[in-house]
Amino acid sequence: MGRISKILIANRGEIALRIMRTCKVLGIRSVAIYSEADRASAHVVYADEAYCVGSARSVDSYLNLDRIMDAIHESGSDAVHPGYGFLSERAEFAQACAEQGITFIGPSAKAIRAMGDKMLARQLMHTHDVPVVPGTDGAVTDLNQALEVADRIGYPVLAKAAAGGGGKGMRKVHSAQEMEQALSRAQGEAGSAFGDARIFIEKYLETPRHVEFQVLADAYGSCVHLFERECSIQRRHQKVIEEAPAACMTAELRARMGSAAVRAAQACNYEGAGTIEFLVDEADNFYFMEMNTRLQVEHPVTEYITGLDLVAEQIRVAEGKALPFTQDALAINGHAIECRIYAEDPAANFVPNPGTVTLHQVPVGVGIRVDAGLQTRGEIPVHYDPMISKVITWGRTREEATQRMIFALEDYHIAGVKTTRGFCRRVMESAAWQEARLSTHFVDEHPELLAEESVLPTDAAAVAAVLLQEHSTAGPLTNGSAWRTRRKGR
Ligand code: ADP
Repeated sequence: MGRISKILIANRGEIALRIMRTCKVLGIRSVAIYSEADRASAHVVYADEAYCVGSARSVDSYLNLDRIMDAIHESGSDAVHPGYGFLSERAEFAQACAEQGITFIGPSAKAIRAMGDKMLARQLMHTHDVPVVPGTDGAVTDLNQALEVADRIGYPVLAKAAAGGGGKGMRKVHSAQEMEQALSRAQGEAGSAFGDARIFIEKYLETPRHVEFQVLADAYGSCVHLFERECSIQRRHQKVIEEAPAACMTAELRARMGSAAVRAAQACNYEGAGTIEFLVDEADNFYFMEMNTRLQVEHPVTEYITGLDLVAEQIRVAEGKALPFTQDALAINGHAIECRIYAEDPAANFVPNPGTVTLHQVPVGVGIRVDAGLQTRGEIPVHYDPMISKVITWGRTREEATQRMIFALEDYHIAGVKTTRGFCRRVMESAAWQEARLSTHFVDEHPELLAEESVLPTDAAAVAAVLLQEHSTAGPLTNGSAWRTRRKGR
């Protein structure tokens, strides 16, 4: 605790850059780490200092705890920001920092442990009056127990790995006949993917929405929520489009969910920024799913509607400062949307499409923010998550934020790899999005949005010619903006 003057960012890509920008605003020096595959990456160039921590594979570099601790000491950093992914939710990292006198910008190792195990987290929530999805309280050890629980809560159920994450470690079980095989497969998969074969059973909710609450807590027991984000548009159980506030939310439901989120954070003596994820069913019942004990990818939508810089708030809390506001002082201003631009092919089941981005020209305008991992060109290495950037727009209303997103995605030019840009644009233009008919099955229910992606040519002169043609004939705003067409027709 105490004033922080130099932060090592134990991450890469857009989130490393995003954290460094706040460091610059606050007059804090920033230190990058990088793998051999990332030598020329934007985050390395942008930092005040940079340290190579190993070869391309994550286990040798961004997950290499010993080497990262060395870089922290070598650089004389007094704090570390873990970003998201990689070591951000490894209790040993927070623990090593605490033992070695380094400020970990995040919660305690104890809080990470309490929430990192989905099963233990469920039990903790139970005792703090936070509703959880009906299911088992502990690990399922034999078939009869699993059948009994499933009979009680009703099929379909999910066999879930206690240590699961990243949309992995879940198996849907439709009937008693499927249980034995599903259980042994789930255990096998969880064992090999997470080194922990424990499985629990949870009711499978048919058409839920994913609604999560941002919380912020200081070291003195104060905790507020910064409202919700809706993240129902997912592929492979992973988010691709998020918004704040949730279109379906009422003031009454927000108050109930918000106070449950604060109770959840206080149950593990949480410090810093965290997220409580809930599923909401068609009758507006909500259930705790898990807590993410770190900054989320989608945090910028919350920044837009609250006007806060969440990284600055995390740093303030880590410096031992009390929260500067109470719940009553916080209000939602307007609406924000985030579209994640991945190097993936939506027409081929969102398969990653890493490679060289030969042109990267981001949109600019009122209420438009782009958090990217590269500047005008760069590599999307095969070794890491293939996200290129996040486009975030703000508007006074959901419609205005949508309209700005359509423009921003049309005016965003990426050459060299297939991306989710066109898919996101079609979602924004769809009636289902505009009428906020959302559930976690959105992508499966709208195969018409998964058109073949055209890739801009890699040659710079050819790209210039294509762009010139686009601008002179159609213009960036006239292409198929169904939203505007529909509005006119009303
Ligand atoms: P992970 O930690 O791997 O992200 P989560 O538990 O957060 O896994 O769940 C990810 C997604 O999986 C949710 O957003 C939702 O779409 C789906 N999901 C999880 N649990 C359930 C459930 N009980 N019923 C229906 N869908 C679920």
